[in-house]
Amino acid sequence: MRRKKLLAGNWKMFKTVGDALALVRKLKISVGQVRDREVAVCPPFTSLKSVSEILSDTQIRLGAQNMHYEKEGAFTGEISPDMLADLGVVYVILGHSERRHVFGEPDDLIAKKVQSAFPRDLKPILCVGETLDQRQADQTRSVVLGQMEAGVRLLSADQAKFLTVAYEPVWAIGTGHTATPRQAQEVHEVIRGFLQKRFGPVSEEIRILYGGSVKPENIDELMAERDIDGALVGGASLTAESFSRIVRHNGGGA
Ligand code: PEP
Repeated sequence: MRRKKLLAGNWKMFKTVGDALALVRKLKISVGQVRDREVAVCPPFTSLKSVSEILSDTQIRLGAQNMHYEKEGAFTGEISPDMLADLGVVYVILGHSERRHVFGEPDDLIAKKVQSAFPRDLKPILCVGETLDQRQADQTRSVVLGQMEAGVRLLSADQAKFLTVAYEPVWAIGTGHTATPRQAQEVHEVIRGFLQKRFGPVSEEIRILYGGSVKPENIDELMAERDIDGALVGGASLTAESFSRIVRHNGGGA
């Protein structure tokens, strides 16, 4: 099955509202009407509303970087699925390695967040990936499979259709050390096999993105791999020039 590629920019904790608007106005011109692949930007919460307004007449989708699993309540500092949906958010990144490792988010919390996206028609981007120590100890497969198993624990096959997975080796995030296309493909194949077993034919619709120091210079070779269906891009999504080049890559067609 031919899956439409998704190129998603994770802006992390960068950009004031003014900076975000300046970036998204440029992206609107350069990639706002791209249709043969999907484009998404995930600004900080503070810019979602303003960015949403600029994107309303484009093909670029809006994403958020995290959320709580409850609809509302006494959860100081948190943002709910309803609040994101209300702003026109389509995608939500969940279980990013910075959430797991810097903020200590455990697998069962991530599973609840993933599940809570569906009632509001949000599409979760579930991030998984091993640390350098785990890779060196030959634990990549078991770590990634463990995170996958836990992350989709509550999902039905019908819901899984709207899931995106991002394989992001922790040692490659923000370090400039990209996984080789072969290293990435090996893990994507493991994830694809897991999804097939868990969800059956629906798994063919689930995109598996690669993330970790993706740049205009390496996007083509990564996207040429069979099981790489797009990219989650951090640093290189912060300028319109580099993110647009990534969106317009040639590797492996649309
Ligand atoms: C990320 O934040 O998800 C990421 C992959 O970052 P970078 O592209 O900067 O490695």
